[in-house]
Amino acid sequence: MTNPFKLLGISDDVVNAVKDLGFETPTPIQEQSIPVLLEGTNDFVGLAQTGTGKTAAFGLPLLELIDFKSNKPQALILCPTRELCLQITNDLKNFSKNVANAHVVAVYGGANIMQQLREIRQGVQIVVATPGRMLDIIGRKAIDFSAVKFVVLDEADEMLNMGFQDDINDILSTTPDDKKTWLFSATMPAEVRRIAKNYMDNPVELTMGTKNTGNVNIEHEYYIVRARDKYAALKRIVDFNPEIFAVVFCKTKLDTQDVAEHLIKDGYNADALHGDLSQQQRDKVMQRFRERNMQLLIATDVAARGIDVSGVTHVINYSLPDEIESYTHRSGRTGRAGKTGISICIINSKEVGKIRQLERIIGKQFTKAELPTGFDVCEKQLFSLVHKVHNVEVNVEQIDQYIPRIMDEFKDLSKEDVIKRFASLEFNRFLDYYSKAPDLNAAVGDDRGERGERGERGGRGRGSEGYTRLFINLGSVDEFTRGDMLSFICNNGKIAGKSVGKIDLKGVFSFFEVEDDVADKVFEGFKSVEFNGRSVRIEKSGDSPREGGGERRGGGERRSGGGGFGGERRSGGGGGGYRGGGERRSGGGERREGGNGGGGFRDFSGRSRDDKGGNTGGSGRREGGSREGGSGERRKKW
Ligand code: AMP
Repeated sequence: MTNPFKLLGISDDVVNAVKDLGFETPTPIQEQSIPVLLEGTNDFVGLAQTGTGKTAAFGLPLLELIDFKSNKPQALILCPTRELCLQITNDLKNFSKNVANAHVVAVYGGANIMQQLREIRQGVQIVVATPGRMLDIIGRKAIDFSAVKFVVLDEADEMLNMGFQDDINDILSTTPDDKKTWLFSATMPAEVRRIAKNYMDNPVELTMGTKNTGNVNIEHEYYIVRARDKYAALKRIVDFNPEIFAVVFCKTKLDTQDVAEHLIKDGYNADALHGDLSQQQRDKVMQRFRERNMQLLIATDVAARGIDVSGVTHVINYSLPDEIESYTHRSGRTGRAGKTGISICIINSKEVGKIRQLERIIGKQFTKAELPTGFDVCEKQLFSLVHKVHNVEVNVEQIDQYIPRIMDEFKDLSKEDVIKRFASLEFNRFLDYYSKAPDLNAAVGDDRGERGERGERGGRGRGSEGYTRLFINLGSVDEFTRGDMLSFICNNGKIAGKSVGKIDLKGVFSFFEVEDDVADKVFEGFKSVEFNGRSVRIEKSGDSPREGGGERRGGGERRSGGGGFGGERRSGGGGGGYRGGGERRSGGGERREGGNGGGGFRDFSGRSRDDKGGNTGGSGRREGGSREGGSGERRKKW
């Protein structure tokens, strides 16, 4: 049977190389694009998700169209990040390994430029580059693009998002007018359309799957928790999935580092990846992740862009991305090459609207999932252990010598007793940690104790800085929503909405904050207000005998020992479970389960963590081609 890649028009040398990589049949995008691109006469726009086999879709035709007898650059591939640049280069080198005199060079920031210049001087046909470093090299007049026949703009939406528009213009102006441009993008915002219009002449357009449709292999789930429970929720998700191999996305470098550090402290096999790490640190982190010596990679959007690690089981959105379109890129880290994956969003009740927006944009439904109970986790872990025991490879030669002594130790125990004891070894640890674990699920509309993402910062009875916290004898039983309450306060207090801070809607009463300098005005305004025949009363919070009377206090607090998650409990060896009620991480109001080494579950893969060289804060260097938090302005915000 003729190889299907050959049927598409790919030559034997390249077909054999992709066969060695295990590519047996072309992916849909390859099937559609290869014949079109092989003609070499058209501009091309491919709307394709990451992980669909894009690189071969343009890479294989390029190899057929380039004259490898010449040593001049004939193809230029621009991509947003160093990681992607290295991946594409590596793929192209693999595809062309049987092609005589094929030379591919990777040009990216943060690496030795001299080496890159040397490679260029020696003669290359394909240049794979991030825009910043490429411009640098062009500026040094170290490259001649006069023979370029093809330019590929890969992940065009990301390049624009990172502010590379001008750089791309400058680079393309050094290439011949009659070159063909092939553009690939996961999404097609107006800016990408504009590029297609400016740079291309009647391009052939292919959409793999429906426009903006997420990868069909990815399921999307969301969990609603209170802001301060996010970290505990993350841990619970991880613990409920003993074989998890995940990328966890945070919004900022600081959060990334922070979450990773806490996970490491809690005994998880995790590490951070963000732009403040040195190149060496990033490489080391990625290598550990790729080799599966790490279970959880905590990353920023930019750092994780383009990462192609096979077998990622979950993508966890610890925070939703700022730009809606980043979600596609994040979730694209899983469900790659035909495998299935789950993309999870941990959100607070105010973010449900964003989920609906995502559903509309990617055209897929998100499942509202419930965080498992502590008992569920214990059960799952127990059976994962049982499964492992069942499947473990027994080294007969080594273990046999100990069997008589072991049998002797167990001689008074029945088989069932022995099993119970083995199982209990791990199970007790989980049970100890999780037996009193609280329900972390929050209902829609339940935003008790939240102010923004990180929980309320002001202490009990106090308003946030610059705000006075007030009590009002109306609440949700009076059928007030927060919006209603806001209007009620503004109308009666005769103040603007922007002067109102947090609103904590309770049952028969509520708390709200107003800017200090309008507090008196509000008192004045509410002097003789009635609601449903009842006089409305406002008091300074803390003055009120009612505050905290019975109900849990507003504002991110949970009192130690008062139910909840065993605030007082501290088991030996570093303290399992929640470390003392009310402990907070710097800058946040998040409650954390798990103490140092005690509660968290270690490295279920059975591999030990290696040195933590990659865990440190890093040098603060910013590598080219990897601008963290690039312009972003043109992207669609929530
Ligand atoms: P890409 O979208 O180019 O990043 O590719 C995603 C993953 O799919 C990479 O790991 C590729 O090696 C793999 N891949 C690409 N094409 C094929 C194919 N035809 N058969 C199997 N795997 C493929």
